[in-house]
Amino acid sequence: MTFLSFVTSCRDRCMRTIGHLTRRGLEWTGFLESAQLTVTTHSDHPDIEALPPGIIYVVGGPTYQKWAFLKCPCGCGEPIMLSLSEKKRPRWHIDTDWFGRPTVKPSVWQTAGCYSHFWIKKGRIHWTADTGRPHASRVGSEG
Ligand SMILES: [Zn+2]
Repeated sequence: MTFLSFVTSCRDRCMRTIGHLTRRGLEWTGFLESAQLTVTTHSDHPDIEALPPGIIYVVGGPTYQKWAFLKCPCGCGEPIMLSLSEKKRPRWHIDTDWFGRPTVKPSVWQTAGCYSHFWIKKGRIHWTADTGRPHASRVGSEG
């Protein structure tokens, strides 16, 4: 690691920490709706069974993202795995704002079990009207 990359990584970590603390403060004072999901990034895969709710576990690094893991927010606890790789279809995209709140595109729709269907916007779950229903029309509707 060069000195410059060391400084850069420290600065990025600091900014993330400041962002998280600011979010917590603003949530606490009621200025910001509290985030239901936050992102953590790791280079290795998670123990999916041990993954706590409220976390989107991204496998990747500073310049790439491969996978996102989370527990189904309906409460069933089913693990959800989203491909973030540009080479794979379907693929999802995660944007994390300055407060560490993720926005995931497109929506997430469980293909079995609870059939939960939801959007993740700025760390909040937005349930769709058709959640809980199987999606026969899914093929060809992916953006
Ligand atoms: Zn579920």
